[in-house]
Amino acid sequence: MIDQMSPARLAGMAIPESALNRLRTELPERVFTPGDAGYDEARAGFGLSDLPSPDVVVTATTAQDIIAAVNFARSQQLPVGVKATGHNFGFPYQGGLMINTERMQGVTIDPEQRTARVEAGVRWGAVVSAAQHYGLAPLKGSAPHVGVVGYSLFGGFGWLLRKYGAAVDSVVAAEVVTADGQLRHASTTSHPELFWALRGASGNFGVVTALQFKLYPVSEIYGGALFFPLEQGHAVLTAYSAWVKTVPDELTSAIVLARMPPLPSLPEALHGRAVITIRAAYVGHEADGARLLRPLRALKGLISDTFKLMPYTDARTISNDSVNPTPVRRSTMMLKELSRALIDTLVKVARIDATTAVKVVEIRHLGGAMTRVSAATSSFSQRYAPFLLHTVDLQLNAEQAANAAHNTRTIGAALQPYATGGVLPSWLGDGDHGVERMRAGYSDDHYRRLQVLKAHYDPTNMFRLNHNIPPARA
Ligand SMILES: Cc1cc2nc3c(=O)[nH]c(=O)nc-3n(C[C@H](O)[C@H](O)[C@H](O)COP(=O)(O)OP(=O)(O)OC[C@H]3O[C@@H](n4cnc5c(N)ncnc54)[C@H](O)[C@@H]3O)c2cc1C
Repeated sequence: MIDQMSPARLAGMAIPESALNRLRTELPERVFTPGDAGYDEARAGFGLSDLPSPDVVVTATTAQDIIAAVNFARSQQLPVGVKATGHNFGFPYQGGLMINTERMQGVTIDPEQRTARVEAGVRWGAVVSAAQHYGLAPLKGSAPHVGVVGYSLFGGFGWLLRKYGAAVDSVVAAEVVTADGQLRHASTTSHPELFWALRGASGNFGVVTALQFKLYPVSEIYGGALFFPLEQGHAVLTAYSAWVKTVPDELTSAIVLARMPPLPSLPEALHGRAVITIRAAYVGHEADGARLLRPLRALKGLISDTFKLMPYTDARTISNDSVNPTPVRRSTMMLKELSRALIDTLVKVARIDATTAVKVVEIRHLGGAMTRVSAATSSFSQRYAPFLLHTVDLQLNAEQAANAAHNTRTIGAALQPYATGGVLPSWLGDGDHGVERMRAGYSDDHYRRLQVLKAHYDPTNMFRLNHNIPPARA
């Protein structure tokens, strides 16, 4: 496992005050060290399980600030990490320099070209609203508060996945500060190798200052969720596994076993209840979407049905993801099947009973457009698995943490026979991390090429406060 401590910290040395003062002069009110007012806000993010403790945080407002921060880190031999929203933390993050991009909020829509250009700190909600004005939609995920750059460059699986593909395939250009402090414009025609690596391996290759990506002509979707009691789990999973084989690419769905939190946005009948839920979005006419759902609506025990025609801006209501930072434990794996044997096993090991606080086991149906893009296009390697599984367990105290760790291990071990061995890097974190787990995110060929490119663009592995890919050894 890579040591996350900077060489200076390992030697017990602090960053010289004179160097910090020069940085503070260059970037007034943008530099925070432990003990400074504002340090805690600057370093904190959505994930709370492993709060990062960098030596210094730079809250960048421009690409020039990021260049200054990267040059400072190089001069002080500090490792670097990037925080936009902190949704993908949950790995040891001690020492080093954090570049916080949350002040970089520019969004520009080009309705003619059907593209958006966003600055590094932008969250999906802002792009969805801006694009909707022109009847266009980005390939956002389930939650509007997730950051565009972190989500897109590690894959990005949203409600339009099967119709329009993974977000990573929609990226047309990235502006990125590399370890040598240069701002580069990466695309298929400019620094194509860097562009290939970024699209899949993200912050391992530099700090993206802005990203440009395609938009699609979607204003409305037919979306929502069907809720059944968890006791119906086996029957609903079995019906779902047959149903997904029949649906067109216009329909993207997920099935979720969960104990529901008492959220005002959820029907009261569901508060605190253990349920199995089918979530979906259909791009097309309401009547066609309703026809596709008919076999599921006919299943026994339906408690609640929230499907309706909705503006794409309301797509967040399909999953109702928590917007509050919460300490959780996670695990993830790509599945090769949703077979009878897997369903039998999952129902046994999911362990959602009366003692469970909040827990989610979600399986997303993949496939469609992203499988029709050549694997050689980018370093993103998780195109072909038909399903993605991830689990989230609340851990507010030591007892919950121990339960969560046990449950996660149990589910992971029991489902191994059905796993491809791959992972989607953006779902790593919160107890599920490390170089070997990251390695599982890539095909052998892609990983080898990534390591060679990393040795070229970032030979000292400066960008290692992340889900890391170490450079190839000379
Ligand atoms: C509630 C929730 C819902 C989610 N829903 C989905 C979903 O529907 N589909 C899906 O595919 N994923 C989903 N995810 C996973 C999400 O895509 C990843 O956690 C993603 O990496 C978050 O990016 P961020 O910028 O918000 O987070 P951050 O933690 O700020 O960043 C994550 C990582 O991205 C990299 N990064 C961010 N900004 C930059 C930059 N400017 N330059 C270089 N590297 C950068 C860094 O390596 C950083 O460590 C979800 C996660 C959560 C917690």
